[in-house]
Amino acid sequence: MKVLVAVKRVIDYNVKIRIKQDNSGVETDNVKMSMNPFDEIAVEEAIRLKEKNIAEEVIVISIGTDNVQETIRSALAMGADRGILVKTEKELEPLNIAKIIKYFVEKEKSDLTILGKQAIDDDFNQTGQMLAGLLQYPQATFASKVIKENGSLLVTREVDGGLETLKVKLPCIVTTDLRLNEPRYASLPNIMKAKSKAIDIFQLQELNLDLENRLELLEVKGPPERGGTVKMLEGHSDLINVLKNKEGIL
Ligand code: AMP
Repeated sequence: MKVLVAVKRVIDYNVKIRIKQDNSGVETDNVKMSMNPFDEIAVEEAIRLKEKNIAEEVIVISIGTDNVQETIRSALAMGADRGILVKTEKELEPLNIAKIIKYFVEKEKSDLTILGKQAIDDDFNQTGQMLAGLLQYPQATFASKVIKENGSLLVTREVDGGLETLKVKLPCIVTTDLRLNEPRYASLPNIMKAKSKAIDIFQLQELNLDLENRLELLEVKGPPERGGTVKMLEGHSDLINVLKNKEGIL
């Protein structure tokens, strides 16, 4: 089984986001970037399938600027076999990312394609679902457990009422949820080994795809400022007074 994993470079989840002064987006200059956490989980799952001799090859794909190579190298250091970088300076919306990944699912004939359930920068949660639609492949989103059974996968998903298990025929698309696994740290020898693993580089134009953007980002605003804290209350009459002054509570 060949596994393709899509990894996105995003602002590190520990960084406090700064909005640009003109509200046109988020500051990314001199900001620490990392692999999208759900994509790390996707890479880990693919590597575990390889370690169990279920997957023969794990390929990672990332779409973005030259810097994205760093993210691909991190996945190679975790244990992926080779990388694909689709180079572009353009901001691409999820449908276009899905079209590009589809191109490589077909080129590589990947049996299982794993994506994160969402990228933590835009929180779109669209790409995996659109990819499955474009390919007309079955999909199992928000996976918390994946088991291979003959020509299918048994995928467990956490739903409101408990756990749901789906049987999904291969080839298919899986998107990862937080509890699927705990990604490993790359060891120093594996970081060194990753330096010599192959990354195939494609220019976006070479793929000849219709990638017109249909979404336009109009504005980005931060959350409303938090009000000041209330002084330590002396007793219940103090509390009632505070509540009385809060509109809509009493
Ligand atoms: P989204 O639909 O934008 O929330 O992203 C869902 C998933 O799609 C991510 O977790 C990645 O696996 C994949 N993805 C999104 N953007 C990219 C990108 N530029 N390069 C590679 N994979 C991506």
